[in-house]
Amino acid sequence: MSFKYPSDSDLRRLLRFETDSGAIWLGDRRMVLMHTNALAALRQDLITSVGPEHARRILTRMGYASGLSDAEYAKKMRPGDSLQDSFMVGPQLHMLEGAARVTPVKLSFDITAGQFFGDFRWDHSWEAYAHRQKFGVVEDPACWTLLGYASGYTSAFMGRLILFKETLCAACGADHCQIIGRPIEEWPDGEAHRMYFTDDSLMEKMEALQSQVEALKSTLEPATQGGQLVGNSSAFRKAYTLMHKVAPTQATVLLTGETGVGKERFARALHQLSSRADKPFVAVNCAALPAELIEAELFGVEKGAYTGAHAARAGRFERADGGTLLLDEVGELPMAAQAKLLRVLQEGEIERVGGEVTRKVNVRLVAATNVDLEKAVAAGSFRRDLMYRLNVYPICIPPLRERKTDIELLAQGMLARFCALHSKRVLGFEERALQALLQHDWPGNVRELENLVERGVILASQSGMVEVEHLFPNQPDAAQTSLDAHGHLAKLPSAQDDELSARILDSGSSLEEIEARVLDEAVSRARGNLAEAARLLGLTRPQMAYRQKQRQHRGAPSHEINREPGVL
Ligand SMILES: [Zn+2]
Repeated sequence: MSFKYPSDSDLRRLLRFETDSGAIWLGDRRMVLMHTNALAALRQDLITSVGPEHARRILTRMGYASGLSDAEYAKKMRPGDSLQDSFMVGPQLHMLEGAARVTPVKLSFDITAGQFFGDFRWDHSWEAYAHRQKFGVVEDPACWTLLGYASGYTSAFMGRLILFKETLCAACGADHCQIIGRPIEEWPDGEAHRMYFTDDSLMEKMEALQSQVEALKSTLEPATQGGQLVGNSSAFRKAYTLMHKVAPTQATVLLTGETGVGKERFARALHQLSSRADKPFVAVNCAALPAELIEAELFGVEKGAYTGAHAARAGRFERADGGTLLLDEVGELPMAAQAKLLRVLQEGEIERVGGEVTRKVNVRLVAATNVDLEKAVAAGSFRRDLMYRLNVYPICIPPLRERKTDIELLAQGMLARFCALHSKRVLGFEERALQALLQHDWPGNVRELENLVERGVILASQSGMVEVEHLFPNQPDAAQTSLDAHGHLAKLPSAQDDELSARILDSGSSLEEIEARVLDEAVSRARGNLAEAARLLGLTRPQMAYRQKQRQHRGAPSHEINREPGVL
């Protein structure tokens, strides 16, 4: 389908240069001629000072406003013409204004039915040119002002939000740009794009970010000494002390412990505490590499050693020279690689695959495993001599369930980190959420906790708290041990509880009196705040109010409380 534009002489007549007053007019709208290199500098400043996402939003909105203004001429200028000719006022004005050459490829719309589909080609987009000039060829389309114009113009014309996206952009190296427009609801990711058209206070975001940075700093500061290790439980301190003692030596260290306990973190901390801290730390997961590649990965490869080895490449040992090499899941190392590793450890030099030259390497080795190496030796899958070489200084990192007192500390640190990562402001964990974390038995250890906290941060509302449902969603019985059907903490009767019951019975008080006393105590602990008192008792506010009312009916003395209007 090929389109022919109607003559644009009607639009050209709108443009007047008024030298007397120093103004340029398009119809009754004042315009201004600007240098594209000045605009390019403005774009660059915006991008570097507020970041590409905010810059994109600001520029999209600017283009959108121009498009909205020009849409008024569509109605005014070609009243008797076909709707298609009157729509073309937009693309034709956009060209006159110097945005790009616009060629319609496909256009169909029905204003009353709210249907729109448009496919246009842009050549010589000033914005693509400006972007490439400042940033070189980029990955994502960059004609934000132009797209904003297309969306603004078409949305005003159609009376509903039409989102245009670039399917090709000259800023990405294409020889032209290509755009497609549809009602925003018809784009699968349309909602995510709505933000580019809405007002957004950057100041508010900056303030939130500032507080996140503060929180993050406080979690990072002790970590730079301890290397991101957090914990205060005796089980943790024991492992930490062992690590701290061996760190300054050159001894090979074997870290053992279940999956997810944080063996890599320990290895990094060990590296940071050693004299090798300013040299590389290189980690290899032996279980994640295919057996046929593992030797090349560890020891490097010479060009042509095997099909596919197009160039010589250094292995992880060479890359870790002077520093520390972590061999994670070392128990998974194939036998051939074990033999070679043993030789490297004995001789302190490596030989690349397919090579004949030996190279000296100075690497401190840390091995980690979640399998019992003794058992692996007995089963014939691990060399005994290598096990002795690695097992010089074993450190067993305790599972999370054996260091429950660390959970809150760990979770708070993770919360701050994920808030920063996901640009979110979350105030903390709700009491019940914390309780649920403490009662979970953590088969996946610290990594599982990390996943839960990240999920919690994502699900929590902005400026809200992480609730128990955010940590354990879609799993009403996942935390069965900790929560009953109503979501309250289910306390198992303990010896203490039995003793308490016995004392109450011995006191001779009635159930009513006891209830009254507990209610009063909760209200007093909550300093008169009824909602808080209700929470302490695991009641809803109406349930609490009802109980209070019952007591007044029974003639119990009513206490001074800060009654919120409309609650009772
Ligand atoms: Zn473009």
